[in-house]
Amino acid sequence: MNAKGLRELQEEVLETGLCAYCGACAGACPYLVSYKGRIVILDNCTIPEPQCYRYCPRTDTDIEAVSQHIFSEAYGYNELGTVKRVLMARSTDQHIRERAQYGGAVTTLLSFALAEGLIDNAILTKMSLDKLPIAFLARSKKEILQGAGSNFIACPVLEALNQIPEDSTDTLGIVATPCQILALSKMKKNPPQNRADIANVNLVIGLFCTWALCLDTFHGFLKENCDLSQVIKFDIPPPPANRFDIYTKSGNISFPLEQIREFIMTTCNYCLDMTAEFADISVGSAEGIEGWNTVLVRTDAGIELIDLAIARGILETRDLPDQNLAHLKTAALNKKKTALKNIVEKTGNKKDLIYVRGVSEDIADKFLDN
Ligand SMILES: Cc1cc2nc3c(=O)[nH]c(=O)nc-3n(C[C@H](O)[C@H](O)[C@H](O)COP(=O)(O)OP(=O)(O)OC[C@H]3O[C@@H](n4cnc5c(N)ncnc54)[C@H](O)[C@@H]3O)c2cc1C
Repeated sequence: MNAKGLRELQEEVLETGLCAYCGACAGACPYLVSYKGRIVILDNCTIPEPQCYRYCPRTDTDIEAVSQHIFSEAYGYNELGTVKRVLMARSTDQHIRERAQYGGAVTTLLSFALAEGLIDNAILTKMSLDKLPIAFLARSKKEILQGAGSNFIACPVLEALNQIPEDSTDTLGIVATPCQILALSKMKKNPPQNRADIANVNLVIGLFCTWALCLDTFHGFLKENCDLSQVIKFDIPPPPANRFDIYTKSGNISFPLEQIREFIMTTCNYCLDMTAEFADISVGSAEGIEGWNTVLVRTDAGIELIDLAIARGILETRDLPDQNLAHLKTAALNKKKTALKNIVEKTGNKKDLIYVRGVSEDIADKFLDN
């Protein structure tokens, strides 16, 4: 049987609202490009061993095999995935903190990894002048700083990874959302051909993510409701705020979160992962503690980097309050339960979890029934 390819990607993902716009299928393919929030097919594929279907985060994924490959341990089926250390952190660099979304842990860790020679470059997302997210290759601390801040619109980050020349030997860091990191982990498990060596990606920083917004529709909403040239920052403050905030040069504009929800990517309803479970280090906000990040360290490489950053005084850390950890676990579990319920509703069959392979009915029941 031939490997599944573009036709199946189209039928099973692109036409069913499951595309996460992560870019894993684009960038190294002559037939697929990202365009205005969608993956567009330019022509029929004639390649005998297509790679587009294989790495999509919404096609068949052996979660157990991915976990074994990344962590050398079984997938835990708990709220947060494999975690070696939990902490709160913020940058000690005032300049980074001023530009960053919260504590600047992401920007700081990447800049530090670059300065230490642990990575040569980093794939990040920055905002264009009209506030669209753009994935790019940052080669210096100055360029890494250009990525600081969150844009809640989905961005095809992995397209930028796929565009790196095949003969490049540069080591890479990457910052990505959970769906993007799942696709990246599938690449690590089963390396792509005719592309730069995926083993060169040796620092994976994941962002917590409840959902991302659809580029096409949400950007239209933004243009109607504010002067984009004046926008400095977007934020979704933690519950109970229930707001989407736009910071502008002439004051802040807030929208009820309910109004923003209509722009959420459909695929987010089927995503089980809130905390980027296959990253080296996952970073989110520290609920109720302004200017700090929650940090989950998952791998030995992550531990080494964090310890070095603390030892050099680059990163300031504290224990995460128990209450924050409990809230995070509840939020992550709720995302799993909702996604599983939506998946089973879509397939009508607890044994068919669309893209997640190897989950027993017992485990599915555990999440569905509680
Ligand atoms: C779509 C989205 C949803 C999120 N949802 C949550 C959530 O529910 N709960 C929570 O606690 N945190 C969430 N976050 C993460 C949060 O907004 C911060 O990015 C995170 O806490 C790191 O903060 P920091 O101060 O270290 O960031 P910074 O040091 O400012 O670094 C931010 C990094 O995010 C990257 N980035 C920005 N926009 C995007 C994008 N669209 N796609 C990929 N990478 C991007 C930048 O390249 C940069 O490296 C979300 C982020 C995104 C992009």
